[in-house]
Amino acid sequence: MDAQTPTPPGFSDMLAPRGANKQRDKKTFSIVPHHPGGFMSPNQLLKIAQVAQKYATTVNVTSGQQIMLIGLQRENVEKAWEELDREPEGLLGPRCRGVRFCPGIAFCKRATSDSIGLGTLLDKKFRGMDMPNKVKMSVAGCYLSCTAPAIRDIGIIGLDDDSYRILIGGAGGHAPRLADLFIEGVNRKQVLAICDRLLHYYKKRANPGERMHEFVPRFGLDRIRQDVLGDMADLPRWPTAEEEARRHGQPGELFPLETQTGGETSCPLP
Ligand code: SF4
Repeated sequence: MDAQTPTPPGFSDMLAPRGANKQRDKKTFSIVPHHPGGFMSPNQLLKIAQVAQKYATTVNVTSGQQIMLIGLQRENVEKAWEELDREPEGLLGPRCRGVRFCPGIAFCKRATSDSIGLGTLLDKKFRGMDMPNKVKMSVAGCYLSCTAPAIRDIGIIGLDDDSYRILIGGAGGHAPRLADLFIEGVNRKQVLAICDRLLHYYKKRANPGERMHEFVPRFGLDRIRQDVLGDMADLPRWPTAEEEARRHGQPGELFPLETQTGGETSCPLP
């Protein structure tokens, strides 16, 4: 609706103010200030608490690693944003969501790679990009996979200092699917380039509304690999279709936790 179009009677009540979502009571709103990976300074956390105290009734830590302020009155939404001085997370609909990532080598004693560095770069580059449907991405700093990369549209697991595994086509929700191994042993620069190519490839070819976990089996993993990775220089070899078939016959081979972590499978707090 453009500025010239008169708002139908009663319709303006249904429109949410900038960066806000209408709640179930159809009167109040929630807002989510974006903090990549959920990382913030104590002062930033304090600021959220102060704004929440003034305008919200409830605070929720979301599954997307963000802090949601719930129960704001319409007239307070803009004031809350001004005081928070942050961008809204608010990216609903068919686009790349904020990237989830774990503490990685910056804080976690189990980590083998820099998930904060890579996750932040991915978040900056892709968050908000228009897609055929929502795209969820996560980065884990080691095989323990605290950010559940195996059930993301694109999941990345750090293997080593600058070596990552990329998984694609995973999903939770109503049609859960474990992601397929796309390629492993790629460095950070290559991860960014591969994600960029893959997302553009998916955007161009997927049916409207088709999620990555539907697109990958429909199009075929091997074909996507050839098209996306085929002309990239200096990539490690990826599994052949035969190796892939053998892998599926040996559950657990994809995530050999015991061999990678000396038997530890619990997740430590940072
Ligand atoms: S144990 Fe969990 S939090 Fe720590 S690096 Fe591994 S995946 Fe990240």
